Amino acid sequence: MAGSSIPRFYERDRASRLEALREAASLDEADIAVLSGGGGIGFEEADAMVENAVGTMGVPLGIATNFVVNSRDVLVPMATEESSVIAAASRGARAARATGGFAASAGEARMVGQVQIVGGYADDAEARVAAASGEILGAANSASRTLRRLGRGARSVSCRRVRTGDAEQLVVELDVDVGDAMGANATNSMCEAAAPAIEAATGGRALMRILSNYSPRRMASATATFLAAEVGGEGAVRDMVLAYELARHDMFRAVTHNKGIMNGIVAVATATGQDVRAIEAAAHAHASAGGAYTSLSGWSVDAEGNLAGRLEVPLAVGTVGGISGIHPTARACARVMRASAPADLACVMAAVGLAQNYSAMRALVTTGIQAGHMRLHARNLAIAAGAPPARAAAVAARMVSEGDISEARAREILAGGQ
Ligand code: NAD
Repeated sequence: MAGSSIPRFYERDRASRLEALREAASLDEADIAVLSGGGGIGFEEADAMVENAVGTMGVPLGIATNFVVNSRDVLVPMATEESSVIAAASRGARAARATGGFAASAGEARMVGQVQIVGGYADDAEARVAAASGEILGAANSASRTLRRLGRGARSVSCRRVRTGDAEQLVVELDVDVGDAMGANATNSMCEAAAPAIEAATGGRALMRILSNYSPRRMASATATFLAAEVGGEGAVRDMVLAYELARHDMFRAVTHNKGIMNGIVAVATATGQDVRAIEAAAHAHASAGGAYTSLSGWSVDAEGNLAGRLEVPLAVGTVGGISGIHPTARACARVMRASAPADLACVMAAVGLAQNYSAMRALVTTGIQAGHMRLHARNLAIAAGAPPARAAAVAARMVSEGDISEARAREILAGGQ
């Protein structure tokens, strides 16, 4: 890919943005047609995806620029309705470029499948499960011919006893290599297929048989260094760390801090057809894995006085399965990023989360978040006040220049007021 730093991308008209995107990401006309089309699916596809379908609902799709992830320039498609998210990601990525961008990594594609065992299971259930592990894994792997053929599938089985007040339950867990998929359906099928062998081994009754959405082995991480001059000087670097310390120690702040991180991650996940709810649930579980809910990211001053950031978040993402491999827009977005493997995608998503976090914190410790946000949100307010889309930009520009960005002011301007 040519550089991801496309000059004045945000100021261009749509045709020019699409042309720059086509060139930079080496897309073909078919990809461009999908990306610029009406959302990639029609009613028939929607009807096949969900029950009781009546239509589809559009979400804006934009491109974050400036990202360098593991020394690779990458343009990042983001689907989000929230103003300023794509701009913030692009700004954070630009700030990280001076030091080489983001270094990111992603763990193995392993999911945990849980078979809940209740009733009178044997005292030595663990030993029995270990002795029957060949049969249990064989039964699990019978559920996916494809994963078997790919040399993936259930790798091991283990037990945990969980105290439930005065009682106890046994959870038998499958460690499943899900290949290039997010792996929920694959893991669920394996749990169901393995349950009879687990019941036979333990002497108990299998109740729930389903994956866990907490996937600690699928941890993605990203790090980046932001030059002090870029952040706004020594004082701004120190303020960034103070801002982080509050998120680290205070749940009320941490949840908003992490929401900002997820603004970026979820937008890329939506654009690439991932299970966003699963990603959110796992991220917040990880944020509280130490017993108290805390920041997903960490910020410190490095030896040179620059700002060092790191983010760690479990990302169960796939390039096959779910809608990731079949939704035309999701497929085109994966091609924009050249994310042919889930690990590529997870690395970019972690980098976007960190970039987003940097920009949000920087705005918060300098001008405050509203100045930039309201400027970008002004057009939404104009439309909410009744401006036709063609007039919204002019109404928004006027509100910005007056420094009064509100729906009430937009109404006045539309009514011809001063
Ligand atoms: P899937 O079942 O659609 O696809 C996975 C299958 O793709 C595998 O079983 C395998 O047969 C096949 N496959 C082909 N090539 C492969 C490769 N290279 N690597 C791996 N598999 C390959 O999807 P999934 O990823 O198992 O499950 C994801 C879907 O399940 C999402 O739509 C999600 O919303 C949904 N879901 C989620 C939950 C949850 O998260 N709690 C529960 C139920 C369903």
